[in-house]
Amino acid sequence: MNLLHYYIGVDLGGTKIRVALARSGGEIVDVRSFPTEAERGTETVLANLQSGVDVLLADGGCPWDKVAGMGVCVAGFYDCKAELMIKSPNLPGWEFFQLKQKLEDLFALPIVIENDASAAAYGEFCFGTGRGQEDMLLLTLGTGIGGGLVLGGKLYRGSRGFGGEIGHIPILPDGPRCGCGRRGCLEALASGTAIAREGRNLLAGHGTTLLREMVAVSGDLRAEHVFEAARLGDAASNGIIDRAAYYLGRALAIAVAILNPGIVVLSGGIAANGEQFFDPVRRHFHAAVLPLLATEMLIAGGRLGADSGIRGILQLVEEQLE
Ligand SMILES: [Zn+2]
Repeated sequence: MNLLHYYIGVDLGGTKIRVALARSGGEIVDVRSFPTEAERGTETVLANLQSGVDVLLADGGCPWDKVAGMGVCVAGFYDCKAELMIKSPNLPGWEFFQLKQKLEDLFALPIVIENDASAAAYGEFCFGTGRGQEDMLLLTLGTGIGGGLVLGGKLYRGSRGFGGEIGHIPILPDGPRCGCGRRGCLEALASGTAIAREGRNLLAGHGTTLLREMVAVSGDLRAEHVFEAARLGDAASNGIIDRAAYYLGRALAIAVAILNPGIVVLSGGIAANGEQFFDPVRRHFHAAVLPLLATEMLIAGGRLGADSGIRGILQLVEEQLE
């Protein structure tokens, strides 16, 4: 292989496809975003990915024969043994889709595929908050809850690639319906979607809350409104956040009892609220966990933001192909 070569990193999301071109060694040359158009089906999404990669290579002056491989991270259940996309919450029509084979045919490159939260965990482990750690659990707290594990310095996938799916730990019997179809999963109790749902339930009642004025202005209710109302002193909104933090703290106590990590990294849109959320999560976690498991364990925010998945998948593709 030539000394100078490149890798392509892709973060395949429900609304955006982020594509990065990186030199071997990890230096990112360029990152661009293109619309996914997920509702138009797999062929359109792959065509959008292909034209995005073409644009990136052309503008970067990088010929195709200098590209050594491509890594793709995607939300959803990717079976790494069968090399099959089982299901993705963001990509309708991708059930039992042979993603790896399809990409290999399309790009004639070695392809590495990873769950997006696992890639984000590896990114934060190599370049962000997890640097210097050996064992780390990462949660992505957004519309859903994803999880990724690095154990003994290595990304842990489990037997089929579904390791670390902490969002689907069943926490509350007969609780609210989760995106996976079951009831009472962590994701149905502590995700952005869950916090917004509790906000709407609050509005359906007759209690006083600042959320009423906020929704009158914005027209809809999102988790960020609940956080903002709580910052302004709204007790009912603060109660919703504390409840979500309670469930998350308990789920972390379960995961930590099994894994004994040195650090838990919280990333994604909900984690962007920082200490406002971390503080009650820590409090509920410490109330639930066996103390000796928690004395030296950190709970901290991610450092790489939206780039964590791309950085992680680029590192993984380089490690696997060199
Ligand atoms: Zn679930």
